[in-house]
Formats: sequence, C-alpha cells, structure tokens
Amino acid sequence: MSTFLDILRLRRWSVGSRLLLINGMLILALATVAVIAWRALTAQSAAMAELSLISKAARYHQDADTVHANLRADVNAAFATSTLTAEDRTSLSDSLTQNAKDLRSDLETLEHLDLPADLTETETQVHALTDDFLAKALETGPLALRDPLAAQQLLPALRASGDALDGGMLRQTAAFTGHITRASQEAAIAESTAKRWLLSAAVLTSLVVLFLVWWLSRSIRYSLRKVRDVAVTISEGNLNVRSPVMSHDEIGELGTAINTMADRLNEVIGRLRAEADRDAFGTQLVEALEMADTEEEVYQVLARAMRMVDAELPMELLLADSSRAHLERATQNPVAGAPGCGVESPFSCMAVRRGNPVSFPDSEALNACARLRGRPCGPLSAMCVPLSFMGRSLGVLHATGPVGKPPTARQAAQLTTLGIQAGARIGTVRAFSSTQRKATTDSLTGLPNRRSAEERVRQLQADGRPFALVMADLDHFKALNDSRGHEAGDQALRLFAETMRVSLRDGDLAARWGGEEFVLVLPSSTAAQAEEVANRIRGKLAENMLLGGVPAFTASFGIADVSMGERFEQLLKLADQALYAAKEAGRDCVVIAGRAPIVPPRRPVEHPASPDLSLIARAD
Ligand code: GH3
Ligand code: MG
Ligand code: MG
Repeated sequence: MSTFLDILRLRRWSVGSRLLLINGMLILALATVAVIAWRALTAQSAAMAELSLISKAARYHQDADTVHANLRADVNAAFATSTLTAEDRTSLSDSLTQNAKDLRSDLETLEHLDLPADLTETETQVHALTDDFLAKALETGPLALRDPLAAQQLLPALRASGDALDGGMLRQTAAFTGHITRASQEAAIAESTAKRWLLSAAVLTSLVVLFLVWWLSRSIRYSLRKVRDVAVTISEGNLNVRSPVMSHDEIGELGTAINTMADRLNEVIGRLRAEADRDAFGTQLVEALEMADTEEEVYQVLARAMRMVDAELPMELLLADSSRAHLERATQNPVAGAPGCGVESPFSCMAVRRGNPVSFPDSEALNACARLRGRPCGPLSAMCVPLSFMGRSLGVLHATGPVGKPPTARQAAQLTTLGIQAGARIGTVRAFSSTQRKATTDSLTGLPNRRSAEERVRQLQADGRPFALVMADLDHFKALNDSRGHEAGDQALRLFAETMRVSLRDGDLAARWGGEEFVLVLPSSTAAQAEEVANRIRGKLAENMLLGGVPAFTASFGIADVSMGERFEQLLKLADQALYAAKEAGRDCVVIAGRAPIVPPRRPVEHPASPDLSLIARAD
C-alpha cells in the first residue's frame, strides 16, 4: 500500500515531468470522450439517415398509390364515352399515358432506393402487381375510349388486378409505417443516447481534470513539504538532517541548496566551536601556566596539556640548552610518550627556522622533514610548533600521528596555542629567575650574596636547625691588588669562590659578604666541624696555588656556632672577632671564637710567579 502511495507521489519525478504526465493523461481522457461522443453522434445520424430514406420511399410509394388511383379513375372515366367530347377523350388518353408513366417512374425510383430487405420485398411484389395492372389499364382504358362494350369484357380482369395492386399498396404502406415508426424511435433513442454520452463525457472529463489537478498539486506539495520539513528542522538547530534530492528540477535544486546551506552552517559552527574550544583550552592553559613559578612546574602543566590535546598522540617539548647549541627533551605526553625527534640543534629544526608551525601529513613525502624518516614506528604524520620568547627561539613542540592523518584542525590550533603559551611562560620564568638570581647572586664570583646568606640563616633559625658560621677574608689582598692589578685581584676572588664551592657539601652555603670577605653557613655543623671545612678550603686553595695562573694568596677564617649565641648579629660578631684573631695570629689560619688561635706551620710560597706575601705584608 505504501509502495503504491509512493508511486502516486511521483517523488523521483521532476515538476516538468509531472506536468507532462498529467497533460498526457488529460489528452487521453479527452480523446476517449471525443471517441465516445463521435460514436454516439454517428449512431444518431445513421438513425436519422435511415428515417429520412424510409420517409422519402414512403413519399414515392404514396405518390405511386395516388397515381394508381388516378389511373383507375381514368379507366373508369373512359367507359363514359357517350358523355365525353373529343377533346376530353384526348385529354383522358393523355392522362392515362401520363399516369402510367408517373407510376412507372415512382416504382423505378423506389426500386433504386437502398431500402431494408422486407421493404424491398414488398416493393418487388408491388412492382409486379403494378406491371400487371398497368398492362391491363393501358389495354382496357384506350379500348374503352374506342369501344366501351368490348372493353367491358376486360373490366373484371382489370378490377381484379387493381384490387390486387391495392392490397399490395396497403401492405407496403403498412411496412413503411412500421419502418418509419421504428426508425423514428431509433433516432430518438440515438439522440438521447448521444446526449447522455456527451453529458457523461463532460462529467467524466471534469472529474478526471479535477482528480489530475488534485493529484499534481498533492504530489508537488508532498515534495515541497519534504523540503520545507528539512528547512524547519535545520532552522530549529538540527544541522544533521538533509533533504533527499529525488529529482533534477527546481524542487531538487531547492533541496540541494538547503543541504549546501546546512553543510556551510555546520562548517561555520564547527569552526566557531573549535575556536571556542581553543579559547577555553587557551584560557585554562594560561591560568595553569600563571600558577607555575618554576620551569619544572611549567613542564608539568605542559605535560598535562599535551594529554588534553590527545592522550594518544606522542608529543615532546624540546628546549635549547644553555649553550643554545643543543635541543633537549624537557617534557612529553604522559600517556603516549615522546616521538623521539633526533634533531640536534634548534636551527636544524625546520619549524624553528621558519618561525611558524609546520605540518607534515606524510613523513615519506618529498617535502617532509628528513628527521621524520626512518623512525622505528615507520611512516607517520607530524606537526612541529616553534617556541620563542621576545623573538628568541627557545625550542620546538613536536607531535606525531598516523601517516596521512596529521593533527585535526582543532588539535593543530591547540598545539599552536600550547607552543605560544609555553614559549611565553618558559621565557618569563627564565627571565624572572635570572632577575632573582641576579638579585641574590654576586656577579663577580657567581656565589650567593650577603642577602642570600642572611636569608639562609633566617631560615635555619626559623626551622630551629643548628649551624656554624665562618667568616673568611683574603690575606693581604690590598697588596695583591696593588702589585698585580685589579684584574688579578678579581681572578683571586673567583678562584677562592670556586675553591669554597667544590669543598662544601650540598646544603652548605658560601656567600660573598663584601670586598674580599666571605661567609660560610654550614647547617647542622658545630664550630669544630666548621674548622675542618675551613682547613679543607685552605688546603685546596694551597693546592690551586700550585697550578699557577693566579698570584698566590691565602685566607684567614673565624668561626662561631649556635652554641655561642642565639642571634645572627651576635654570631657574626663572634666569627669576625675570631677572624681578627686569625689575622693577628699571622693569617692563613682558622680560629674558633673564644679559643686561642692555633697557627699552622708556615708553608713556603711555591708558585714561581707568586710574590712573597710575608714580604708584602712587612712592606705594609
Ligand atoms: P688583611 O690581610 O688584613 O685582610 O689585609 P687586606 O689588605 O686584605 O685588607 P684590607 O681591608 O686593607 O684591604 C682589602 C682590599 O680588598 C681593599 C680593596 O682594594 C680590595 N678589594 C675589595 N673588593 C675588591 C674587589 O671586588 N676586587 C678587587 N680586585 N679588590 C677588591
Ligand atoms: Mg678585609
Ligand atoms: Mg683581607
């Protein structure tokens, strides 16, 4: 049933084809009606023609009957010769001849008419009777004019023949009457039939036209309704519906246009969603990075962001090392791991060189980055986003995927955001820590400065941890400066700083206190342990002197620990006093506050280029 309805709907037909079909059906209906009407009219006109023929024959028959009666009258009149003038006789004779001629003529005419068989039969009989009567009348009539008595003998035969002809005429008249009645009835029936057919045809045609128009409009409306329903659904926000394009006409084109409009809307909305996604991702990323104060924290945020972009895509962040000559992996996708790009230096990376993100759909393509080829996983797709801060390249964000399937537009946008934000944050964190380092570091020696030492002591005191404080001062430094120049003095300061650095444990702090004075903060150490450390430094310094390159020098140390005082200033003062005592004791020695200096055996100055510091001291 539904298939039949589908056929009736003509869904796959164009509007033009539907109109043509309905037009054809209309012509068919009209032709049928015309044939029916033609046949009805033909039947009516045949009936009328028959009626007219029979009427014509009946008129000739009637005429013949009249002429026959006249002939009989003429013959009877011929018997009255005694009363007739010669002129009457001539006239009667002419009348006889003329009537006989007319009678024959009527009969011949009747004979030539195409009458029905029964009429032809009666006509033949009448003809024979007429011939007989005419023969007798034409014999008796003229004879009666000449010799009535002789003609009297022929009269009975004439009468018999006349009566026979009368009978024949009567039968034929009856036959004609029957035929005329029948033909009239048939003509009337044919006429009413024709009228009925014409009326029926008119009604039928109107109904057919009505049906066809209804069918056509319904079928067109059905197709239009389908398109309208799709348009309404799309306008309500469902962009996944599509109009089935069944025909190549205006309705089909309308459906195609609506489908194209839905596709375009989908694209636009997809783009807007991707942008909103990227914005949301970007906002979250910026907020997370703002909370990351160290590079380590930044890497953790980036690793989580990589997982958000796609947990299954291998990704890594490669950053230039301090020499800016090598790229090292800083972090990677915590789920999928790192793709393991073998690029050595930032400027070997195409993305870094271009300064823009690059995408490689197929690592085997001619224009793909050479470092994508020959990976253990085989051919792949990749995307590389360069990282930079204030125009300086920091490294590259590298992601790979299946060959032929580079990151989607959304992922590419997110990776680009990730690269930009990562570069900005890493740059900022580095700049900030560099500023901080500068604020807490002595630029000449690279050691923490006085502020840092004070901060460390404050922390230890806050934590309640014991510590020892050592004050160190280079001996006769002024003389060294004066004799070897300021640059040599700086070199000596750097060497002393390096000597301390390598002599300390993790957690110990060596800081430049100012000029050629240094402070050591040794957590969890006693003064005695600090003394060992100071002597170790002294020993190392002496060893370094043997290497040459700098003028030889020594240092003196004063020590205090938390057992001698609670306050930092107090300990500082004690350590300073011990240092003074060390200087007093002849320098190049270590003195614990409150104890007598122990002067170690004097060492000769072995470096050939070194001045004799004791001489220099004496010169002072
Ligand atoms: P002492 O053995 O008693 O400590 O004698 P000294 O000469 O080391 O002591 P003094 O305080 O008289 O001289 C310290 C000198 O250190 C003065 C200054 O020229 C020098 N000095 C201080 N800071 C620097 C620096 O940053 N670089 C250089 N080259 N010299 C410095
Ligand atoms: Mg000094
Ligand atoms: Mg000094």
